[in-house]
Amino acid sequence: MTAQTRIPLAIAGIGKIARDQHIPSVAGGEDFDLKAAVSRHGKVEGIENFEDFDAFLAKRPDIRAVSLCTPPEVRFDMAKKAIAAGHDVLMEKPPATTLGEAEALADLAREAGVTLFATWHSRFALGVEPARAWLADKAIRSIEIVWKEDVRRWHPGQAWIWEPGGFGVFDPGINALSILTAIVPGRIRVEKANLSFPANRKQPIAADISMRTASGAPISAAFDWRQEGRQTWDITVETDAGTLRLSKGGAELFIDGVEKTAGPDREYAGIYERFAALIRARESDVDYQPLRLVADAFLCGERREVAAFED
Ligand code: NAP
Repeated sequence: MTAQTRIPLAIAGIGKIARDQHIPSVAGGEDFDLKAAVSRHGKVEGIENFEDFDAFLAKRPDIRAVSLCTPPEVRFDMAKKAIAAGHDVLMEKPPATTLGEAEALADLAREAGVTLFATWHSRFALGVEPARAWLADKAIRSIEIVWKEDVRRWHPGQAWIWEPGGFGVFDPGINALSILTAIVPGRIRVEKANLSFPANRKQPIAADISMRTASGAPISAAFDWRQEGRQTWDITVETDAGTLRLSKGGAELFIDGVEKTAGPDREYAGIYERFAALIRARESDVDYQPLRLVADAFLCGERREVAAFED
């Protein structure tokens, strides 16, 4: 694609994920041209910077596409305004703080005729699509998810993540649920959840969830933010035809211990290629199943208080 035909893009919320992934992926791809950043403090060199989203919308209607990389609690207002102004919108995960917000945005995008892309970056990890294809004709017997990481390492100083609407340990845990709902056919349901809240925090630091596939196979998920040392993002599926294991957040796929994946990470490159394809086709991609599972875990979950947590 030539520089003239690239889609002008703005990124809102210049924090960790915008800097680590979005800005480099846009620069390394051929579909978008980063023209503006919108953030109260964060700045991107060499492009126009706005501190206020309304000011950006008023001044740059020519920038057709907007990526929202803020925390979820402010995403609804921004997405609603961007859709009303006729922009195509990409939302980082989780798409919103409630299912009601998320569904309202899908309705608004449909009525406005703009593209809305609720991204799940883990679904673009190398092993996920081949895992889905391999499982398609197998009978699943059980699934075990272990998603254990060190919150201090991955979310340093992010106070919002512990506040209502911040998701706590479900912020990484929803990535596992986004893979689960991509590779397992049918609707998954939550049966039971235990949520561990530090005495001084408003969101859980750990969660154990029992779920079932549509055909009744048990699924266990253990999410924990207190894991130091080796970090674990594994999904193991026992089937009638062998064991499938996704490791490193979906980047590596093993069938009966034999690795089936090779190559560099393309999660965010894949996200921007998909966003461009959706814009060209004038379509949206809004799958809220991972958010529904989180909502259901909170609905039926039993709360336990655990030791206070200091950053
Ligand atoms: P972050 O480092 O806190 O960056 C988000 C930025 O959004 C902030 O730097 C802030 O920039 C802006 N912002 C606007 N309103 C805000 C508010 N009310 N509270 C806090 N910040 C606000 O967070 P992040 O890790 O990039 O995560 C952002 C989103 O990406 C989350 O939904 C997260 O789940 C997702 N994500 C994160 C990762 C990761 O590894 N960190 C990976 C994948 C996806 P200004 O102060 O300049 O406005």
